[in-house]
Amino acid sequence: MNDSASSALTSSASPELRAAFAAAYREAQRQNLGQSSAALALRAAATACRQVLAERWAQTQAQDAQRPASGEAVRRVHYLSMEFLMGRALSNALAALGLQGDLQALLAAEGLSLGEVLEREPDAALGNGGLGRLAACFLDSFAELGLPSFGYGLRYQYGMFAQAIQDGRQVEAPDDWMRLGAPWEVRREQVRYRVGFGGRVELDAGGQRRWLPAELLEAQAFDFIVPAHHSERVSTLRQWQASAVAPIDFKAFCQGDYAAAARHRVAADALNWVLYPDDSSESGRELRLKQEAFLVSASLQDLLARHLTEGAPLHELGRRNAIHLNDTHPALAPAELMRLLLDEQGLGWDEAWAITRQAVSYTNHTLMPEALETWPVRMFEALLPRHLEIIYEINHRFLSELRQRFPGDEGLLARVSLIDEGSPFGGERRVRMAALSIVASHRVNGVAALHSELMVQTIFADYAAIFPERFHNVTNGVTPRRWLQQANPALSALIDGRIGSAWRQDLAGLAQLKPAADDAEFGRQFMAVKRANKQRLAERVRAELGLVINPDSLFDVQIKRIHEYKRQLLNILHVIARYQAIIANPQANWTPRTVLIAGKAASAYVAAKSIIQLAHDVGRVVNSDPRVGDKLKLVFLPNYGVSLAETIIPAADLSEQISTAGTEASGTGNMKFALNGALTIGTWDGANIEMAEAFGPENMFCFGLRTEAVAQMKALGYDPRLFVEENRQLAQVMEAIASGAFSGGDRERYRALVDSLLGRDVYMLMADFKDYVATQARVDALFAQPEAWARQAVLNVAGMGWFSADRTITEYVDRVWSVKSLG
Ligand SMILES: *Cc1c(COP(=O)(O)O)cnc(C)c1O
Repeated sequence: MNDSASSALTSSASPELRAAFAAAYREAQRQNLGQSSAALALRAAATACRQVLAERWAQTQAQDAQRPASGEAVRRVHYLSMEFLMGRALSNALAALGLQGDLQALLAAEGLSLGEVLEREPDAALGNGGLGRLAACFLDSFAELGLPSFGYGLRYQYGMFAQAIQDGRQVEAPDDWMRLGAPWEVRREQVRYRVGFGGRVELDAGGQRRWLPAELLEAQAFDFIVPAHHSERVSTLRQWQASAVAPIDFKAFCQGDYAAAARHRVAADALNWVLYPDDSSESGRELRLKQEAFLVSASLQDLLARHLTEGAPLHELGRRNAIHLNDTHPALAPAELMRLLLDEQGLGWDEAWAITRQAVSYTNHTLMPEALETWPVRMFEALLPRHLEIIYEINHRFLSELRQRFPGDEGLLARVSLIDEGSPFGGERRVRMAALSIVASHRVNGVAALHSELMVQTIFADYAAIFPERFHNVTNGVTPRRWLQQANPALSALIDGRIGSAWRQDLAGLAQLKPAADDAEFGRQFMAVKRANKQRLAERVRAELGLVINPDSLFDVQIKRIHEYKRQLLNILHVIARYQAIIANPQANWTPRTVLIAGKAASAYVAAKSIIQLAHDVGRVVNSDPRVGDKLKLVFLPNYGVSLAETIIPAADLSEQISTAGTEASGTGNMKFALNGALTIGTWDGANIEMAEAFGPENMFCFGLRTEAVAQMKALGYDPRLFVEENRQLAQVMEAIASGAFSGGDRERYRALVDSLLGRDVYMLMADFKDYVATQARVDALFAQPEAWARQAVLNVAGMGWFSADRTITEYVDRVWSVKSLG
């Protein structure tokens, strides 16, 4: 690769690395705990890179501490997120440091290949899906753009569960990702804070309210360093680990009550224990609320300590620091900041509130009302009594203001109150975390144009009427370093050869690739790269699943969390329809197709698990039918995660982005695929729309009802049966599932799935089926003309320049995090 910027770094960093690696490798060998030499080399390489990065970290922090004291100075951004889906770190660090070649040579001397060592690294999967991966892409952009920043998260012992498949069913296993150690982390011995829970609030002699927590935990910082690729800046992900302040109750211990003696310790461990494996809210679980409060309190104490250490006046805190809430999971932040400013720093309410409002901003990630986080007031009383008082006070002031602005509108007040009063017929009082986030923020944004528009028209319509100036859009993006440069070296090299390598830093430069779309030779080279990537994936499928797939078939890919709204089921219905059509007419000129699906279902999500099982049942029947051959295959790849995505996406011809219009907030998977030259079959939803506008809707396979049509059809009384009755093909597909054609005659296995499709069909699969299948036929026709296909694929790549996370972060800085945005 001819990346001039990083090769400039290579020469300076290389001798350092050579020495560091050699020392770390010797040390690893000396300690050898029966590990393979590849595992030892991985540890040594990580340790060596970490040393280089640790120096850069210190430099970065020193630079940031010296930014000007006031005026239009850049604010430091504190990105609070319960999830960071980082994936592997070594190949990214090597690329950033320009050290792949050096390490490759060092490893060769030990008889090892770089690829083998890279594959050893477990994914850091401290997130569920898109929201967590977005946070990870943002950290990369923070470093690349040199933005003073901290990502804040929790150091979960167990990340996203590992998915295995037994008899076609998902089985979850714990993800013990640190069992071989955590070579990337830097433990910050000095950085510790106390976080309280429970207890009561007292009025002290001076009339100040004081919280006396019943339980105290200690938060210890572990830093994960994320390097820039084109400078020596790094960004930091600071993850908190809980421990008991008094790990042992000595009195209980002496009385022989060991369980009681270890109680605090067990409680602290529980806090770090596990990432809640759900991609929507986990309402009602006390441990989750404790995790959220712990993240928020430790992070804000850290921010405050740094602000004061830098010698800046307290009243400047909001102008010098941005606190961003990645969804409502860290929504306690405003309450905690108020507590710190009022109770610990002695500020008055108005001053504290002004600072808080300047600092806080919030991104919403979902429109589904049932996914909006709320917590029982009762739980707050027990765990966070002082925060509850502060939330009541915020609410009281907010509602008083509204009473003056909108006299007599009690309905509005009840709808927007931070407290859901429940109903007279039951339902307890609850705290609405989205309401708290909006009221305490100076900016609220959605993650794609359509989503931001629907957000102010539907779930947040009342707040948008009250605070119209707060609501904005910032469309998501992905980092081109991981998702093109590292995941797809062959395509990267092809692009470099045509337009140079500057796109890594400024993805908008991909637009220069546009003329290459009409260059047939470039198109052939593009297809050759794709073919090689497909070959590699086919080998992996053979090795892992024992299944032979044809790399010349169309690779039709849907990988993402399994969710009804994402409609993997619609994809499977199409596979069944195609299977039946092939059986009916095996001699027709079929475009061979391999459908690949991957994704995890939340462990308690019955319908999603049933979809996984159906994919396996249909795959078993289709893949073993000799009449079908390689005209059609359905493959489910287990244990979807960042690393698997990095191998699958470069090999995709077709990207399935088929959510019901109005349900997918943005999607980022859609962006990764198009950036790697897959064409999209997609609904007019989320960021699909902006992608289509960027490279031309004629270069995307758009289908299905649009948002307004979905709403209209629902309003008129949607009856899915009408669609089944008028479409023989659909009727046959439904009949085959219901009759047990894929479940060995078992008619019960998919009864619930079939009933829900024929009953309410909330996500309108029946309504969209016909257009989907017709559009898939257009896909076949284009794929049969490789030149035309390549042309559109290259136009997709060329049009993706705007979807870089660097652009997204530049917009956040401009509209949300800059001093200017404070008005
Ligand atoms: C990008 C990504 C996602 C998000 O995918 P969507 O298709 O946008 O839902 C989820 N998980 C992983 C591992 C990813 O890399």
